[in-house]
Amino acid sequence: MNPRSLDHLTTIILRDILNWAAEYLKSRHISSARLDSEVLLSFVLNKDRTYLYQNSESRIQNPEFKIFKEFIERRGMMEPVSYITGEKEFWSLKFKVTKDTLIPRPETEILVQTVLDIIRSQKLKIFNLQSSIFNPIHILDIGTGSGNIAVSIAKESPESHVFTVDKSDNALSVAKENAITHNVAGKITFIRGDLYDFGFKNSQIPKIFDIIVSNPPYIPTDDIEGLMSEVKDWEPRWALDGGKDGLKIIREIVKDTPIFLEPKGFLVMEIGFDQAEDVKNIIKATDKFSDIRFIKDLSGIERVVTAWKR
Ligand code: GLN
Repeated sequence: MNPRSLDHLTTIILRDILNWAAEYLKSRHISSARLDSEVLLSFVLNKDRTYLYQNSESRIQNPEFKIFKEFIERRGMMEPVSYITGEKEFWSLKFKVTKDTLIPRPETEILVQTVLDIIRSQKLKIFNLQSSIFNPIHILDIGTGSGNIAVSIAKESPESHVFTVDKSDNALSVAKENAITHNVAGKITFIRGDLYDFGFKNSQIPKIFDIIVSNPPYIPTDDIEGLMSEVKDWEPRWALDGGKDGLKIIREIVKDTPIFLEPKGFLVMEIGFDQAEDVKNIIKATDKFSDIRFIKDLSGIERVVTAWKR
């Protein structure tokens, strides 16, 4: 079915337009055809999805119809729904996303939860009592993207200040916008840099942090071609590609972490499928950490690693 097959219609009821969109997306092999059509239509109408059912006989106005058709055509080209709407929910907050940022994934919420658990844990409290009780907990977020991790932590943890690094200026602007939207801009410092290579031009940036967190690119280069078109053709490659074995960036982060982490501070990273053993060995090889732990995601995959610096 051609998306232009409805061009002759000027108005159409919601039920019919949804059926048309779902059929069209199905013909483009999109498995979530119906859901995506509903999400995009409710976005265009600025209503929630239940409105579509309760008002299935209502007519859609021409300008909205035109926008919706364009959205469905874009979705038919495999563009992710979040890039079309420009938003994605993470940690129950709405985040702006663009093609310069990875679309936040639900499993990354485990990373946020782990950092919050550490902040509330005894170990970090002891450290804080000894050396910096009057200072906020300094957290460094490497590769911020949309700022989902930094904003969620800043929102939940009044005792923290998050320093967040990204090599993309465009990503940093998106992250700043998200921080402003969620009222935590004053609790986050945005730094342009590549991993730890951000220099200390700014005296506001500490030389050493209490917690270093990252969701680094960890997909082996050759595996990227096997991913869904939505991911491999649309999301930023640099945010996904972890080099030949997927561990290149993880190795780089771990190598320099001891320089930037307070004694008794924590490194917390998201990792990929089947990487736990290798990551454990990479961290152990530095001889600077003890208590290396893994937290599983809902599918039972070890998804987050934490390491405590001696
Ligand atoms: N921090 C962002 C996220 O977790 C981006 C991570 C990345 O670009 N690899 O979604």
